[in-house]
Amino acid sequence: MKIRLDKMLSHLGYGSRKEVKTILKKHELLVNGQRVKDGKVSIETAQDQVFLDGEPLVYEAFVYYMLHKPKGVISATEDIRDRTVIDLIVPEDYRQGLFPVGRLDKDTTGLLLLTNDGALAHDLLSPKKKVPKRYLALVDGIVTAEDQALFAEGFKIDGEEWVKPSLLEILAIDEVNNRSEIALTIVEGKFHQVKRMMKTVGKTVLELHRESMGGLTLDMELKRGDYRKLTAVEVEILQ
Ligand code: URA
Repeated sequence: MKIRLDKMLSHLGYGSRKEVKTILKKHELLVNGQRVKDGKVSIETAQDQVFLDGEPLVYEAFVYYMLHKPKGVISATEDIRDRTVIDLIVPEDYRQGLFPVGRLDKDTTGLLLLTNDGALAHDLLSPKKKVPKRYLALVDGIVTAEDQALFAEGFKIDGEEWVKPSLLEILAIDEVNNRSEIALTIVEGKFHQVKRMMKTVGKTVLELHRESMGGLTLDMELKRGDYRKLTAVEVEILQ
């Protein structure tokens, strides 16, 4: 595949195209042993040898970011009214082709994967793959052992749609304020699924946070709105 050097460097996380221009002026970039200062030069990724200050640069076709989604942004690539999760990625050059893998509601926080890898996203979202997603929630109402048994079997939400068996864990009960802290692991991704499941057993979700998806757990170091690239091991875990 052919790609412009400035685009490749930006894609690899060296900054915006403007920043890359400065890098190319100040640092030594060699393509097949020849110094190149012009970012507009294209290279053939499978063939050309690129070194920046002696370090080899390898083009990655796919990028994977772990985002700690804050409240108030929507899980879409663009929107005329609201900020989207893609708007959180700066500089803009890093955003090319990125999309969120699945959706979290506007008021839900937690782990959201952003990538340009359509095949991986498709696999992670496919109901057939049953990728587990663990949510933490604060709910209004007291969650009971009967609720747990029902969730373990699978049931109809909103009187019409079946959900698969899930794991409902009770983490804390506050009888005085009629609140429960729970963890719910589901293997589907139906619209407002956690909220609708809890509603069916008479509880209202007040706070919702996704902790993990498949083998990927939200990095505790990431503050809301922050993101980082996945490590090679994390990408491997998702495959
Ligand atoms: N279930 C919900 O109800 N909302 C989310 O954001 C995710 C799962």
